Amino acid sequence: MDHVLKGQIAIVTGSSSGIGAGVAKSLAEAGASVIVNHSSPSSKSAAEAVLKEITDAGGTGSIAQCDVSKEDEVIKMFADVIEQYGTVDILVNNAGLQRDGKFDEMTLDQWNTVININLTGQFLCAREAIREFLRRGPRPDVSAATGKIICMSSVHELIPWAGHINYAASKGGVKMLMQSLAQEYGDRKIRVNSICPGAIQTPINKPAWETPQAMNSLMTLIPYNRIGQPSDIGNLAVFLASDLSDYITGASIFIDGGMTVFESFASGG
Ligand code: NAD
Repeated sequence: MDHVLKGQIAIVTGSSSGIGAGVAKSLAEAGASVIVNHSSPSSKSAAEAVLKEITDAGGTGSIAQCDVSKEDEVIKMFADVIEQYGTVDILVNNAGLQRDGKFDEMTLDQWNTVININLTGQFLCAREAIREFLRRGPRPDVSAATGKIICMSSVHELIPWAGHINYAASKGGVKMLMQSLAQEYGDRKIRVNSICPGAIQTPINKPAWETPQAMNSLMTLIPYNRIGQPSDIGNLAVFLASDLSDYITGASIFIDGGMTVFESFASGG
């Protein structure tokens, strides 16, 4: 990968595992200094391992503990990064989780946990990023856009998902957060887009791929007939963060091996 993000500073939330780790490594490979965010002391060693992979490959970055659903912690993480690096150019709003259950049995705690992290967390981080982009203004030497925000959404901003209503609602909210932000700040040269993954092989969806039976069943949903990898998402994140995508804003980009062409209709019945 060319160093298309040379000189830029990127925060990737929830990047001690899964897609976030893949995105962090790809952005670093493309030349960005990457802040590997993790949520709690228990995920510190995993974040350090991701950072080590980055630095072993010749990249740069650091780790930052912050629960994205806590306003004071998000404000502190951005302040610390700006103090250390001078600014932030790229935010990847990736942190997210699932608390699944039948709707009639879902507790308010299951609902709130998912909304607080998947949606409010994206609001809090995007607000600090926008504040910094407005404060700092353009950096034409490093990027055509003043700042870039990439929201990790899901195919479930489009496909309803019984048994996961809190999750689907959070991703539907991310879609409108992203599009409204793109509308509100486009004239300030801030680009905001979403990545909508299908099935990517990470801890969040282990039951869907850990046995051959589960994997076979998953493949009935995926025309391209393979599960996605975090590096697939990393490649797209580099594109969306770089000037290669300078005319793209307000877009949801689906990266799903064709899941959203609805394989179950393939027979034309
Ligand atoms: P993952 O469980 O490996 O990663 C989620 C990360 O978010 C973890 O590192 C976790 O520690 C972090 N996190 C959770 N709560 C946090 C908090 N309060 N503050 C900071 N970080 C927190 O799963 P993943 O598949 O890599 O998921 C990453 C994102 O991709 C999520 O937003 C998820 O909804 C989305 N996504 C995943 C898939 C998939 O198939 N894996 C598909 C569509 C969307």
